[in-house]
Amino acid sequence: MSKPKVAIFDFACCEGCQLQIVNLEEEILNLIGAVDVVQWREAMSEKAQEYDIAIIEGSITRPEDEEKLRKIREQSKILIAIGACATIGGINKLKNNFEDLEEVKECVYGLSAESPHLDTAPTKAADEVVTVDYKVHGCPMENGEFAYIVKSLLMGKEPFVPTYPVCVECKQKENVCRWEYGEICLGPITRAGCGATCPSASFRCFGCRGYVDDPNVEAAKEVMEKYDLSVDELKSKMVLFGSKQGPTYE
Ligand code: SF4
Ligand code: SF4
Ligand code: SF4
Repeated sequence: MSKPKVAIFDFACCEGCQLQIVNLEEEILNLIGAVDVVQWREAMSEKAQEYDIAIIEGSITRPEDEEKLRKIREQSKILIAIGACATIGGINKLKNNFEDLEEVKECVYGLSAESPHLDTAPTKAADEVVTVDYKVHGCPMENGEFAYIVKSLLMGKEPFVPTYPVCVECKQKENVCRWEYGEICLGPITRAGCGATCPSASFRCFGCRGYVDDPNVEAAKEVMEKYDLSVDELKSKMVLFGSKQGPTYE
């Protein structure tokens, strides 16, 4: 049986999630042994027209990116989005909070803002453009989770991706809740799977894995009331990874 052909593509991002693939070290050799990597800009110069699995990193921030992504979707049987930029739009979605994107561009690029390759549009996650089959969440993504999802697919199994919030994993680790320190932690509404990395290292959750499918908005409001904090304060903490994505807290 021939090995599945895999192609890796990047859009607007810091490439940190591709670095996470490289960081798999020995495990990457097992993965590479099981697939045929036919395109990966970071690691090889070859380009392929045919592939079975497309792995997408980065968010869609230009009209030409949409076109490219649609073509990749047409050419692939399975499309996997890796990292917050691709799965939820990530930090790049911050620009969607501004009405005048030309002003944003000038602020970021200064005199170079008019360069054609710096064309800009409101940021989209990959699934706002095409159907995404699997998502590896996080900023950066967890490389163990990436390896698990790819291995599951190669074995014909459906990978498990948590739909419950980070708080579940945090409680399992017996962390003292960051709310007790007066911090607004997004764990109650953020998708688990990272092992509550940030609260375990004495930081609040910033929401990098995106929101759970059905966030308990009322419970979140009650927590805000309990700690004498306003909904506006909660919303201000949701901007980093939650710009223009649900849930809404009115
Ligand atoms: S999700 Fe984070 S680490 Fe991954 S490419 Fe985007 S900004 Fe970089
Ligand atoms: S620290 Fe955050 S993730 Fe942990 S229990 Fe508290 S709210 Fe939930
Ligand atoms: S605790 Fe929150 S911000 Fe930290 S890695 Fe997990 S989901 Fe991301």
